[in-house]
Amino acid sequence: MDQDLTSTVGAVARLIQEFNKLPGIGPKSAQRIVYHLLRASEEQTGLLAEALLSLKQETRLCSICFNVTDSDSCRICSNEQRDRGKICIVEQPQDILALEHTRTYDGLYHVLHGAISPTEGVGADDVRIRELLNRLQDGTVDEVILATNPNLEGEQTAMYLNRLITPLGIRVTRLARGLPFGTELEYADDVTLTRAIEGRQEF
Ligand SMILES: [Zn+2]
Repeated sequence: MDQDLTSTVGAVARLIQEFNKLPGIGPKSAQRIVYHLLRASEEQTGLLAEALLSLKQETRLCSICFNVTDSDSCRICSNEQRDRGKICIVEQPQDILALEHTRTYDGLYHVLHGAISPTEGVGADDVRIRELLNRLQDGTVDEVILATNPNLEGEQTAMYLNRLITPLGIRVTRLARGLPFGTELEYADDVTLTRAIEGRQEF
């Protein structure tokens, strides 16, 4: 009996620890979730466990834009209706969700998976910049929209990309300044984001 109790407590503590590592979940929330799951049916916890496993097993990065996908090229890249002359550069896949939610943009994307940050030792080779430059070689793209976050790293990355892309004869624009400095794109509301896309300016 004692042993059972120890292992149960251990399992509880372990899951609390894991939830606590997630963004936006503090120790109190982690505890609340775990004790909720403890009361839930085995079927419900099984569904959650399966969903967690398939997250990694069934997803990969799009071979073209590096968005999260379940096939070789993502639904945006393989959609013939999208304007292939425009590429919007974002830092994270979730930024695509935010921009798509506004329904104002019909071009393609490119996910850098980070931003250049000399202070944190992240250089140009650590994000998907080389892959972006490869995409710009065939001459189909006539506008690149820099939608990196309006913070220090995002601005540095945008400036760096502008220096690389402008000489290729491609128009480089930046999201309008309506986004408050220091924020992240994924937290911007639809109205602000729509204004930022529509009001984009030459870099
Ligand atoms: Zn894609």
